[in-house]
Amino acid sequence: MMMIKRQGDDERFSGQKPKLTRPVDARRIAKLFLPYWRQELVILSCILAAAVLGLAPAVLSKHILDVSLAHRNPQGLATDVALMIGAALVVALCGVAQGFFNSVVGQGIMRDLRIGLVSHLFAMPISFFTSTKTGKIMNRVTSDVDNVESVVTVTLSSVLTNAVIIVSAVVAMLAISWKLALVALVVLPLMVAPLLPVGKRMYTVKKATREKRDEMQGITQEALSISGITLVKSFVRAAFEGERYARLAGDLMKAEISLAMVGRWFMGLINAMVTVGPAIVWLAGGFLFLRGEISIGTVVAFVALLARLYGPASQLVGVQVQVVSALAVFERIFEYLDLVREPSGSRRMTAATGAVAFDNVNFSYVPERPALRDVNLTIEPGQVAALVGPSGAGKTTLTHLVSRFYDPQSGRVTIDGVDVREFDVESLRSHIGIVTQETYLFHDTIEANLRYARDGASHAEIEAAARAANLLTFIESLPDGFATVVGERGHKLSGGERQRLAIARVLLKNPQILILDEATSSLDSENEALIQAAFEKVMRGRTSLVIAHRLSTIVSADVIFVVDGGRIVESGKHADLLARDGAYAQLYRTQFERGTSPAPEREREVVAANGPPMMKMKMRPAG
Ligand code: ATP
Repeated sequence: MMMIKRQGDDERFSGQKPKLTRPVDARRIAKLFLPYWRQELVILSCILAAAVLGLAPAVLSKHILDVSLAHRNPQGLATDVALMIGAALVVALCGVAQGFFNSVVGQGIMRDLRIGLVSHLFAMPISFFTSTKTGKIMNRVTSDVDNVESVVTVTLSSVLTNAVIIVSAVVAMLAISWKLALVALVVLPLMVAPLLPVGKRMYTVKKATREKRDEMQGITQEALSISGITLVKSFVRAAFEGERYARLAGDLMKAEISLAMVGRWFMGLINAMVTVGPAIVWLAGGFLFLRGEISIGTVVAFVALLARLYGPASQLVGVQVQVVSALAVFERIFEYLDLVREPSGSRRMTAATGAVAFDNVNFSYVPERPALRDVNLTIEPGQVAALVGPSGAGKTTLTHLVSRFYDPQSGRVTIDGVDVREFDVESLRSHIGIVTQETYLFHDTIEANLRYARDGASHAEIEAAARAANLLTFIESLPDGFATVVGERGHKLSGGERQRLAIARVLLKNPQILILDEATSSLDSENEALIQAAFEKVMRGRTSLVIAHRLSTIVSADVIFVVDGGRIVESGKHADLLARDGAYAQLYRTQFERGTSPAPEREREVVAANGPPMMKMKMRPAG
C-alpha cells in the first residue's frame, strides 16, 4: 500500500537482493547474440565493405588530381567519377542491409530478454513479491530492458563500425603518406581529449533524468491505482501527492534542459573539430607540397580521410560511458534471472483424496520470529476444519504452507501422506482452491474472470457455477449479464458479490482441497446468508481449511483448531471442546453471552475472560 516513505523495499527476501557489485559478465552478454550469428556475419560483412568502399572518394580524388587531370585524360576522369558514384551506391546499400539486420538481431535479443525475464518472474516464489516493491519489478521488465535496447540495437554495431572505419582510414593514410599520417594521428588525441568529460557529464545527467522519471512513475502507479486513490482521497492527501509530483516534474524539467545543453556543447565541439582538423592538415600538407615532398592529390585525399578519422573517433568518445552503464543494466537484468526460482518437486499429483496433515511444523518468515511452532494436525478427507484464533496467530500462514507458498524450516506438511515438497507445485496447486477475503479480479468481463479457473469451461458450466455460488440472479439482473466488465480489480462489484464470484471461480476449478478465508468485514444479513450458503455448497465433499470468523461455521466444523502465537492450543469438535471446558469453551461462552446483544451482524471483539493473554478472538455470531 501507499506510504509517505517509499524508498527502499523490504529486503528480507532471503538475501536475494539484486546488487550492482558483480563484475560485468561479458560472456553472458555475448551468449545473447549467439543465436543470431548468421545475421551478425552479414552485418560484419556490410561494415567491412562499407569501410573499404568508403575510402573510395579520398583515394579517387587523389587519382583524379594526380593522374587523370595531371595527364589531361578525360576518359580516366570519367572512370574515376563513375567508380566514386558506384562506391557511394554500394555503401548506401550496405547501410540499409546493416540497418535491417541490426534491427533483427537487436529486437530479437530484446524479445528473448523480455520473455526470459517475465517467465522467470512468474516462477518466483510468493516471498519475492511480498518483499519487493511492485514498481521495482515493473521497472526491471520495462525500463531496464528498454535501456539495454539502444546498446544491442545501436551502440555495439556503431562501436564496431567506427572502429573499422578508423582502422581503414589509418591504413589508407599510412599507405599514401606516412609523414602526413603522423601529423593527423598526433592531432587526433588533442581533438578528442576535450570531448571525454562531455561523455561522462552526459551520462550523469541522463541518469538523473531517468531517476526522476522512475520516481514519478512510482507515484502514478501507486497513488493512481484504485486502492491508492481511495487512500489518497480518504486521507485528503491529494494536494500532498500533487505537490510531490509537481516537485519531481520541475526537477525533471531542469534535468532535461541540462541534458539538452550537454548535447549542444557536444555538437559544438564536434563541429569545431571538423573545421580545425583539416585546417591543420592543410597547413602541414601545404608545406610538404611546397617542399615538393607530396602531390596536391595527397593533401586533398588526406583532408577527405580526416573526416573518416575524427568523426568516428568523436562518436566513440561517448560510447564508452554508454556501454559501461548499459552493461550495468545488463547485470541488473541478469541478477533477476539468477534469483532462485520457486522450488518444485517432480511427483505429479494426479488425484487427491485430500487428507492434510502437519507433522512437527516450524516456520518463520523472518529469522527469530517464529510464525508457527511445533504444529501437528490431521484433517481427514472431506472434513471441514475451522481455524480460529486471534489476529496474527498464524492461521493464514498455516494455509500458505499447504499450497506451498512457503516451506517450513522443519517438519513437514503432507497431502495423502506425501510431503508437499515432493509434488510438482503446479499439479499440487491444481488440486487446491483458495478463496481469500480480498478477492482479486482482472479488469475484464465476469465470464472471463470465471473462465480464469478453467479455460475449457463451457458457458453452461460457468452458469452452473454462478448459480451454485448464488450469483446468477445478480448477474442476470445486470444489463450486460456475463459480459459486464468488473472494473479495476473488480471494484464495480460489492464485497459480497466479489466473494461469491470467487466462490463460483473455485467451483469451476473443482479442487479436492479448499482454503477459505471468511470475510471479517460486515455484510448485510441477506448477503451474508447468500455467501454462507455458497460456502456450504462449495465445501461439500472437499477437505476444507476455513479461517473461520462466523460462529455458524465454527459450530458445524468437523474439527476446530484453536491457533494462538503460532501454536495449536486446542483442537476437537465444538461439543467436545465445550465439554473440555478449556480456552475454547471460555471463548465460546463469552461469545454466546454477547451473542444475545441486539446487533447480531456487527463484528465484535470477544475477549476470553480467563484464556491465554493473547486469546482475543474475532468472532461473529451465527447469522
Ligand atoms: P489474521 O486473522 O489477522 O489474518 P492470521 O492468524 O492469519 O491473522 P498470519 O497472517 O498467519 O496471521 O500471520 C502470522 C504472523 O506472521 C504475524 O505475526 C504476521 O505479522 C507474520 N507475517 C505474515 N506474513 C508475513 C510475511 N510475508 N513476512 C513476514 N511476516 C509475516
